[in-house]
Amino acid sequence: MCSSDLEVVAHELASSRGIDVTPDRVLIANGAKLLLFLTILAVCDPGDEVIYPDPGFPIYESAIRWAGAVPVPLTLHDELGFSFALEELGERLGERTKLVIINSPNNPTGGVVSAEDLGAAAELILAGQAWVLSDEVYRRIVYGREPASIASVPGMLERCVLLDGLSKTYAMTGWRCGYAAVPTPLVDPLTRLITNSVSCVPGFVQSAGIAALTGPQDCVVAMVEEFRRRRDLVVAGLNALPGISCRAPLGAFYAFPDVSGLPIPSKQLADRLLEDAGVALLAGEGFGARGEQHLRISYANSSAQIELALERMREFLEARGVELRGRVS
Ligand code: PLP
Repeated sequence: MCSSDLEVVAHELASSRGIDVTPDRVLIANGAKLLLFLTILAVCDPGDEVIYPDPGFPIYESAIRWAGAVPVPLTLHDELGFSFALEELGERLGERTKLVIINSPNNPTGGVVSAEDLGAAAELILAGQAWVLSDEVYRRIVYGREPASIASVPGMLERCVLLDGLSKTYAMTGWRCGYAAVPTPLVDPLTRLITNSVSCVPGFVQSAGIAALTGPQDCVVAMVEEFRRRRDLVVAGLNALPGISCRAPLGAFYAFPDVSGLPIPSKQLADRLLEDAGVALLAGEGFGARGEQHLRISYANSSAQIELALERMREFLEARGVELRGRVS
C-alpha cells in the first residue's frame, strides 16, 4: 500500500465518523474478513474471552475458536430491534474479556445499534481493559439516520479497531479489499501478520478502491434507494405469509423473519425451501444459537426474483398446510 492510499482511507474513515484518524494507523488488507481474523489472532491468547453478537457473522466465532479464545455470545434481541441489552453486556464483561465485537448494521439481522446504546456500551468497556472491534462494513447501507460508530465515543479510538471495506458499499465483494483504523499498539503486530501472510492487496485493486472512495458517490445513494424498495417488498411479502413475522431491518440487505409460528424447525424449513421450492435462504441458527426460529433472506437480488421467491414460499406453505399444522418429520 502506498502512502496516498493510506491518506485516502484515513480521510474517509475520519470524515465519515467525525474522528481523528491519521494514515499511520490505517491498514489495508484483502477484505474486512481477513482484518477481523487477524485482529482476533493479534490480540487473543488462549483462554481469553471474546464477546460477540449472537446472531452474528459466523466468522467471528470461528476465528475466536481458531485463536484458542473463548467465545462469549451477546444476544441481539428481536424485540430490541436486534440490539443487545446493556445489562447483558455488563454481565459478560470481566477480567478475562480481551475483545468485544460490535457489528452495526448487523449481518444477519439488519439491526442497527443506537448512538445512546453505543455510548453506554463504550462506558462499560472503557472501565475495563478490553479492545473493541467495530465491524462497520454495512455503514452506508441504512434506511434511516446514519448509524453511529462506537469509535466516535471519546476515549474509544485508542481501544477500537474500526473496520470497513469496499465489498458492501461499492458491491466489490470479489475485489477483496478491506481497511481499518487501529490503535497505535496494534499497528506493528497487524502489519506483521499481513506482510507474512498475504503481503498486500494487489496494486490494481488498490487503485480501484481509491477510485471508488474518491469518485462520485451517487451510485451508492442509488443502490441504497433500490435496496430500500426491495426491503419494503420482502418485508411486506413475508408478513403476508402465514406463521411468519418480519421486522423492517434498518440496515444491510438482509431480512431476518421470525418463523416460530410454523411447526417446522427453521433449519428444516430452509432445506425444504431450497430443495422443494428452489428458494435459497439460510436458517437463523447458522448465525448462532439465538438465531434459531428465524431465517436469513438476502435481498441483494432483483425485485422480480424476490417476488418469485415470495410466491414460491407461499405455494410451499399452502401446499403443506395440513402437514405444517401437524408434525413434520
Ligand atoms: N463483516 C460482516 C458483518 C460481513 O457480513 C461480511 C461479509 O459478508 C464481512 C465482514 C466480510 O467483508 P469482506 O468482503 O470485506 O471480507
